[in-house]
Amino acid sequence: MYFGSVRFFKHVIVGVTILLIVIPCVFCAILAVKLNEAEAENKELRTEVADYRVLGHKGEYSAEELFDLYKENLTDKDGFLKLASEYDTSAYNAAAQTEESGEAVPVNAETDSSETTTTSASAAVTTTEGIKAVSIQIDDEEDEEEDPGFETTAAHDPEVVITNVHPAYESLYPDLYAAVPENLVYNADMDYVYLTFDDGPSKYTDSILEYLRIYDLKATFFVVPDGTDECAAKLRKIANAGHTIGIHTATHDYTKIYASVEAYLEDFKIAYDRVYDATGIKCNLFRFPGGSINDFNKEIRSDLIAEMTRRGFVYFDWNVDSSDALGATWTEMYNTVLKQTAAANRAVILMHDYNGGWNTILVLEDIIKALLDDKRGYKLDKLTEYVKPVQF
Ligand SMILES: [Zn+2]
Repeated sequence: MYFGSVRFFKHVIVGVTILLIVIPCVFCAILAVKLNEAEAENKELRTEVADYRVLGHKGEYSAEELFDLYKENLTDKDGFLKLASEYDTSAYNAAAQTEESGEAVPVNAETDSSETTTTSASAAVTTTEGIKAVSIQIDDEEDEEEDPGFETTAAHDPEVVITNVHPAYESLYPDLYAAVPENLVYNADMDYVYLTFDDGPSKYTDSILEYLRIYDLKATFFVVPDGTDECAAKLRKIANAGHTIGIHTATHDYTKIYASVEAYLEDFKIAYDRVYDATGIKCNLFRFPGGSINDFNKEIRSDLIAEMTRRGFVYFDWNVDSSDALGATWTEMYNTVLKQTAAANRAVILMHDYNGGWNTILVLEDIIKALLDDKRGYKLDKLTEYVKPVQF
C-alpha cells in the first residue's frame, strides 16, 4: 500500500521541499541575473552618454561629424538610426531663424517631423457653428437643472421650438471632467523651472527617470499611452517616482484628432482611460499635440480650448523648446534651453521621451546640472494645478 507508507511520506517531504525552497530559489536566481543584466545595460548606456557628452562639450566636431561618430559607435544603433532618419538640420535651422527674426515662433516640435510647421503666435479665432447642435428639449429634468443654456421660458409652449445653444459634444463622456481645486492660488515664484517630456513612455523612459532620481527632481510627462502592459508598467513607474502625468494623446495623429472637437475628445478619453487603468490617476493636466496653436487645429481651436477648459482640464504649452524632436544637436539643445530659460519666467521646457530620443538622453544631465548650478537659483519641479498655466 503506497498511501501511508514510508515511501509515500518520503515523497511528500521531497515534494514540499521542492515547492517551498527549490522553486523560490530558482526564481530569485533568475531575477538576480535579469536585474544584473539591466544594470549592466544601464551602466553601458551611461558610459556612452558620458563619452559623447565630452565630445559635444569640447566642440571638436561639427554636428554632422558627431552624428557620424554616434552612428558608427553607438550600442543603441536602432534608436540612433531612427533619429538619423528624422534628422533634418534644415528644418531646425529654419525654425531657429524664424524665431530669431521675431516674426513667428516654432510651435510644432513633435516627433512627427513630416508635420513640422511654424505658425504665427497670434491665432485667428474661429468658430464652428456648423457642428453646434440644435435640438428640441423634451422632459429631461436632470439636464435642465444643470444646463442654463436652455431657453426655459418657452418650455411649456408646444408651438415653440426650444433651441439648445450648447454644442452636442458637451454631453459626450459625462464622466470626463477634471477635479478643480477650490480656492486655487497659483505659486507666483518666477524662478521655477519645469522639465516636461512629451510622447512617452518609450525605451528611454527609464533613462530619464534615472537622471531625475539621481538629482532628486520631479518632472512632468505628457504621455501617449498605447494600452499595452509594457506601457502601463512604465506609467506606473513614472507615477510611483512622484512625477506628474498629463495627457498628450492616444494616437498623435494631427489630422485625425483635430478633425473636430468630438474627434479630439474621443482620442483624449482613450488616453485618459489608459492612464487611469494603469495608475489609478485621473489626470487634470494635458498638452495639445503640436501645442495649443498649430496649423492643424485652426478650425476648431477656440471651441476645443473652451470645451476642455469647461471640463476643468488645464493645458500647458511651453516657453522653452529644446527642439530635441527636430533633430537638434547636443550644442543646439544645451544652448537653446539655457538661453530661453534665462529669458523666461516660470520656464516650461519642452523635451521628448520617444524612441528616437537618444539626443535628449545625451544632453539631459548637462542641462539639469547647468540649471541647478545657475546663480539665479532655479527650482526644478513638476507641473500641478497650482502652477499658473504657460500657454501660447
Ligand atoms: Zn507630441
